[in-house]
Amino acid sequence: MTDSREDELLEIDMKLLNLMDDRIQKGRVARDDVNETAYIQKLTANYDGTVPKEFVEKLIRSLFNESGKDCGTGQRMLYSREFKSSDTIVEVYGHEIGGQETMNIFGPCAVESYSQTAEVAAMLKEKGLGIIRGGAYKPRTSPYDFQGLGKEGLKILSRIREEYGLAVISEITAPGHVELARPHLDIFQIGARNMQNFELLKAVGRSSTPVLLKRGMSATVEEFLYAAEYILAEGNPRVILCERGIRTYEKSTRNTLDISAVPLLKQATHLPVMVDVTHSTGRKEIMAECAKAALAAGADGIMAEVHPAPDVALSDSKQQMSFAEFDDFYTNLP
Ligand code: PEP
Ligand code: MN
Repeated sequence: MTDSREDELLEIDMKLLNLMDDRIQKGRVARDDVNETAYIQKLTANYDGTVPKEFVEKLIRSLFNESGKDCGTGQRMLYSREFKSSDTIVEVYGHEIGGQETMNIFGPCAVESYSQTAEVAAMLKEKGLGIIRGGAYKPRTSPYDFQGLGKEGLKILSRIREEYGLAVISEITAPGHVELARPHLDIFQIGARNMQNFELLKAVGRSSTPVLLKRGMSATVEEFLYAAEYILAEGNPRVILCERGIRTYEKSTRNTLDISAVPLLKQATHLPVMVDVTHSTGRKEIMAECAKAALAAGADGIMAEVHPAPDVALSDSKQQMSFAEFDDFYTNLP
């Protein structure tokens, strides 16, 4: 074969491969074989070229199969390693979540006042940390418990960002919060209770603000990933997953920290995975050990709550660390 003929064939075949690649990315036509058969019949009926029909059928079925390495729905999942093999790094305010370095998120359960949040911000800043958390909308189990400062809380957080140079993350609980909270926050948190609030997932998916999605307390790993898919499918690729414990019969911890979910998620998805040791354990005396376990299992960072005066905190008062406890916790982390 002459060089120029080989070059010509290489060019055509490369085009063919790139076209097949595009086709595979588009996913399957239907969920079941019957519809796929009808689709192939339609295709071959309309085709009058020289490629034998059996070959066309074989080729299209192979493309379907290549697209279908997923959860069984027939769609290649955007969260999957098959879709994107390299780790996704979510950039926030000059920090990287999911990169080489561990990126932690600490702060109070709720934003209670400017001075309470500023005290925490100053302490975190002094330790060289880059992100602060604090709930402005608190989805509490009882409607009579502190529900958060709402918009006032968001304003406090953006003031903290300005004054301390920390990135801020807070939970939003309704699609209407997206526009309201966007100027104030660097990361939207979707809480465990809202993991399957699909309208909320779609709303944050339409924004470009990074989203930290917490695992629902009764959600399987698969359901957790599908929830992330809702956000990705709307066009927002900046999603961070957060394991926060699941509900089991065990009563000695607030929830059961599912360490196995960490390597499972890291293998299944390219998205960063964090572990919240506060809500998963509810026990300050084991948080450092659990955080070490989470990092050893491959977590990209730890979330934990710290408050200047936990005894009088308006929410989660038993599980928030004091500054002294936090200092001990933080210096124990690898
Ligand atoms: C929180 O992090 O403030 C919180 C309420 O956690 P979760 O949604 O995991 O219960
Ligand atoms: Mn809390």
